[in-house]
Formats: sequence, C-alpha cells, structure tokens
Amino acid sequence: MVSLTFYGGANEIGGNKILLEDKDARIYLDFGESFDFGEDYFYEYLQPRAAHGLEVYFEFGLVPKVPRLYSKKMLERTELKYEKPDIDAIFISHSHSDHVNHISFLDESIPVYMGHGTHRILEAYHKLYPQFVDIGEHTSLNFFKSGDKIKIKHLVIEPIHVEHSIPGAYGFIVHTSKGPLIYTGDLRLHGPKSNMTQEFMEKAAKAKPYAMLCEGTRMGSEQEHNFTEAEVEKTIEGIVKKSKGVVFVYFSMSNIDRFMSVYHAALKNKRKLVIDTKFAFVLDSLKDKIPALPDVMTDENLLVYFRLSKSGTYDEKDYYVYERKFMPKMITFEHVAKNQKKFVMHMSFNKLMELVYLQPKNADYIYSSSEHFLEGEENEAERTVLENWMKHFGVKFHKAHCSGHASKQDLAHLVKVINPKILIPIHTQRAEDFKGLHTNVKIPEKEKTIEI
Ligand SMILES: [Zn+2]
Ligand SMILES: [Zn+2]
Repeated sequence: MVSLTFYGGANEIGGNKILLEDKDARIYLDFGESFDFGEDYFYEYLQPRAAHGLEVYFEFGLVPKVPRLYSKKMLERTELKYEKPDIDAIFISHSHSDHVNHISFLDESIPVYMGHGTHRILEAYHKLYPQFVDIGEHTSLNFFKSGDKIKIKHLVIEPIHVEHSIPGAYGFIVHTSKGPLIYTGDLRLHGPKSNMTQEFMEKAAKAKPYAMLCEGTRMGSEQEHNFTEAEVEKTIEGIVKKSKGVVFVYFSMSNIDRFMSVYHAALKNKRKLVIDTKFAFVLDSLKDKIPALPDVMTDENLLVYFRLSKSGTYDEKDYYVYERKFMPKMITFEHVAKNQKKFVMHMSFNKLMELVYLQPKNADYIYSSSEHFLEGEENEAERTVLENWMKHFGVKFHKAHCSGHASKQDLAHLVKVINPKILIPIHTQRAEDFKGLHTNVKIPEKEKTIEI
C-alpha cells in the first residue's frame, strides 16, 4: 500500500509538502510554504525572529507537529522531543518558496535532492535576501539532472525537466511498489521551452502510471485567451516601439523567460536594457547554467544601474562587494535622464524613488508580473501608491503577462495524454473541477492521508 499525506498543497495554490510512504520508505515531495503562511498572526513588524524556533509556528498550527522530522535547534522550546529522523529523502521540484521554503526547519541529516539550477537560484537569493531565503544546513544535499534515476530504498525517483516561470523546474516519476506515480510540480505548455514539458508528458505516459498528483493552479480560470510568452514579447515590443520616452518594465528577477522577452523587445527597438545590481548578480550567477543568457559583463546591450549613494560620486566604497564587480557596466540616472528614448529599464516598486532623479518624460510602465497584485484587495494600498507615482510623472501604464502555469485546456490535454488510473489534484483551489477530466479523481485534504 502506498500512502500520501498532504501537509500542504491540498485545496490551496502552493505550499506543497506531501509525504509519500511505501513499505519502509518515506519521502517528501516538496517542502514549501503556503502563500498565506502566517498572515492571520503576523503583520508588518510583528514577525517571528531568527532566534525563534518552531514554537511560534506550532502555537498557531502553521507547521505540522510531526515527530522525527525537524532539527534539534528548531524543536528546542517545543513540546515535541527531538528524535532521530525517519524520513529517507526530500525531493524539491523547483525554487519557488511555495515548494522549498520550509527545508530550513528540517533535521540536517535528512538527505535533500534538488536540481543544480534550483540550488544556484536559492544561493543567489540567499546572498541578496538572507532574511527571506535560507535553505538551512544539510549534511546530504544532492543535485540531480533530468533523466537521473535516484534510488531511495526500493523507490526509484526520476526527475524530468518541465517548463515553468523559473528555470530548473522538474516533475517526478516515482517508481513505487504499486507502480509509477507522477508528480507534476508546477508546469506550463505555452512558454519558449515547452518541449521540456512535452518530454515530461511523453515519459510519464510511457510509464503507464497508476496515479498522478497534478497541479491545477489555473483550473478555475476561464480566460478566453491563453497568452504565450511569445505574445508577451510581441506586446512589449509594440509598446517600446510606440514609446517616446523611457520604458519601465516590472517582472520577477527569477523569471528568466520574461527577462529574455524584455531583452529581445529592447534590442529589436535598438534600445539598451538597464537592470539594477541585484538583477545583474542573479543573471551572473546563472550564466553557466543557462547558455542562452547574455553575459552581463560583456553584453553591450545590457547596462547596470548604480543608484546615487553616500559619497555622491559613485565611489566603489558606497556599494556592497557583490555590486562592485558590475562597475565597468555602470549607468547612472544622469545618463538615462538625458537619453530617455534609448532605454528600457527594469523597475520594481521599491525602486520608484529613482523616478525623482530620472524625471521621466512621456514614459511608459509595463507591469509584467502576476495579476494578483493588480486585482487583490490586500494590495490596494501599494497599488494606490504605484498609481500616484504614475500620475505624478505622467507615466502611461500597461500590462503584459502570461502565467507560469498550464491553462485549463492544457491541463485537460496533460491528463488525457498521461492517463493515470487515479488522478489527485494538488496546488489548486478547484480540485472538484478535475472530475470533469477523469473518472477516478481523489481529492486530498490537508493533514489527511490517502491510501492508493
Ligand atoms: Zn507552486
Ligand atoms: Zn512555481
């Protein structure tokens, strides 16, 4: 009997933390943090500090009180006694927080497996944001690539690359005593590397799986048109073409497909792309893993923005050590302000202050990230501030985005092609809708076990 326990990822988008038990083998598929984690108890400066262990999270039932899983240090002030762990391995599908963030709580002796790219991204983000991204200590941290076969007791886990809105994402084929089980991770079929997801689909179908854990982020979205990354690039290219000033674009630094789209859109309009030092650091960290990425240090179409700092003279001592490497590619507000039509510039919310120096004229701003920010009530205050800045500087607002997740139609196609005997919807708030795609759907519940 194979059993699955859902400590996260059941009837919620994200937070995947799924225990698979088969005979004496016990592994977790992802170990992420829910998107709404702690929002009922923590607010702004009311946050747990690094010195706190799991006692704060146990108090509010935010992390499952499971024995033989967490580190001694994390359990210090909790009623759960530290015991030697009984988990054989943790498999991480990709580096988004809703799949990886809680591995810092784990006992360091539990082996952790992730893709090379995932580790590289997490390392880069840890350097930039140590308070938010920290994978903790692990005595056995192992890296896989697509097609590897990893043996954990009698289980064999086969990671296969998939396309998602972050590089280095994987799905898994887990060969259990009952037969192959598929875990999709997060994936899509409308990006520039969707051949990777195709390959995953083919291999998963060939395995003739008896069960599939399938992501369903967009199961409920009735969008008439499923925008592709290629269409996003075309839209951005068109806005840049029409613009008579600087074009600001906001998107996540880890969305490398989007970076390439914006880069191409800038180049086709004979403009240079300006990124900040943090972005340059992320690109530089990934360049040997992604050969198609332009090299920040040598690519003349890519410039690195240095904010004016203490000395007022762009002295190297004004900047962190990691930033200094990019000084040969430095561009400052004076230059952008004088030549506004020549640039496309990455602009995040917390960098808006630069607009005071840049004094944009006839500028455009493209919001190219998840729609949640533009719709959700919880973002209203931040959105109003953004709108006020746009109004103040007369900047024209645009949207151009496509999802990192498969559309409802593509999910139907995925289920049909892979054709498992049992379908288990995860990473979705619309699990019931999967019943329209398959005759044997088992809907998981949080902290409950399904035997298959
Ligand atoms: Zn996710
Ligand atoms: Zn993801």
